[in-house]
Amino acid sequence: MSAVPYLAGLRLAGRRVVVVGGGVVAQRRLPALLAAGADVVLVSPEVTPAVEGMAGAGELGWERRRYAAGDLAGAWYAMALTDDPEVNAAVVAEAEERAVFCVRADDAPRGTAVTPASGEQDGVRIGVLTWGAADERDPRRAAAVRDGVLEALREGRLDDVRRRVADPAALPGAVALVGGGPGDPGLITVRGRRLLAHADVVVADRLAPRALLDELRPDVVVVDATKLPRGRAMQQEAITGVLLEHARAGRFVVRLKGGDPFVFGRGSEEMADLVAAGVPVTVVPGVTSAVAVPGLAGIPLTHRGLAHEAVVVSGHVSPDDERSLVDWTALARLQGTLVILMGVDTLPRIAEVLLAGGRKPSTPVGIVVDGTMPTERVVVSTLADVARAAADARVRPPAVVVVGEVVAVRESLRPAGP
Ligand code: SAH
Repeated sequence: MSAVPYLAGLRLAGRRVVVVGGGVVAQRRLPALLAAGADVVLVSPEVTPAVEGMAGAGELGWERRRYAAGDLAGAWYAMALTDDPEVNAAVVAEAEERAVFCVRADDAPRGTAVTPASGEQDGVRIGVLTWGAADERDPRRAAAVRDGVLEALREGRLDDVRRRVADPAALPGAVALVGGGPGDPGLITVRGRRLLAHADVVVADRLAPRALLDELRPDVVVVDATKLPRGRAMQQEAITGVLLEHARAGRFVVRLKGGDPFVFGRGSEEMADLVAAGVPVTVVPGVTSAVAVPGLAGIPLTHRGLAHEAVVVSGHVSPDDERSLVDWTALARLQGTLVILMGVDTLPRIAEVLLAGGRKPSTPVGIVVDGTMPTERVVVSTLADVARAAADARVRPPAVVVVGEVVAVRESLRPAGP
């Protein structure tokens, strides 16, 4: 029983590949090597007219002679494709010696590499391997599977399978609340992206990563939630209304939110509305800006010896506002890290209250504006000066404010530069 071969893709562009033998097997294998941009050296006293054509066109180098020991010098990959078992064995042996992987055509299990049955459809390249001596000597099974998969891709049958099997949440009439991450489209989760790819309708927030919307199929309906009627309660109702309308029409709806849906994102309210309406709903957590925006700007929320806690708090209402649910005086007594979201407008008052509550005036404060986006800016100050620094730097939302000694760690995380 042979071990399961490891399936890999080789980047062969500009790399020497030595092919020994120029018959029909070589003729079939060469095009894929050339398509990969390999620097092919073919060693063979005779070749088929097609192979001769490739050599004549300069697509490969042809050494018109028998294989000789040493021919694999400098090779990244080798193929023993002659009809002489002794020659092929010698090529494989030399490859082994040089630690170069080598395919052996006449007796595949004795090669150190196996060529998968492969093919391409719609930009998807597939490779199928079967193993065990019997299957390796008879590649028809791998080829049949390959053909079946390519045909299914061609006919779009796999799209359907993907839709139903790949994620149980992507159902007609269902809603997924997807956290899109802080802005950089690379920071959505794998599952979030998959569900987005299956969406019939996407309802996106202002802070949902815009770039992700560019990737949607042209037939996907995109609803900009920021364009719905204003006013907090109204907007909530309008959003729930849109989600319900599309779900009830049998569409799969993705509600795409910035960061994590359940961190100051009103995701739990939307989910409760949908649950109450009997709509199947799934939540896909996201990378929250509270952690990722400072982190990518070089500010860790915790650091050994500096902060053993990190509190995430909303600054959307001022500390003096009667609607505030935050005990700022208690927060002022913390030694650790304070992460403030939606706190640009209220920052001057927040700083005052923290100082009055006992936090040291020299406490470092970092403000990260447009985190993870090309327009990202970082303003570093202290609690005593931050109101003025933010005004001078014309800080505008969205911004994450970090208060605490961890802000100083940033200096040690930045590469020394000009
Ligand atoms: N659910 C979101 C937060 C929504 S509240 C999350 O988990 O990230 C909106 C606030 O998040 C903004 O006012 C700002 O404080 C912060 N925020 C979101 N994205 C940001 C970004 N790219 N850069 C800076 N702050 C951001």
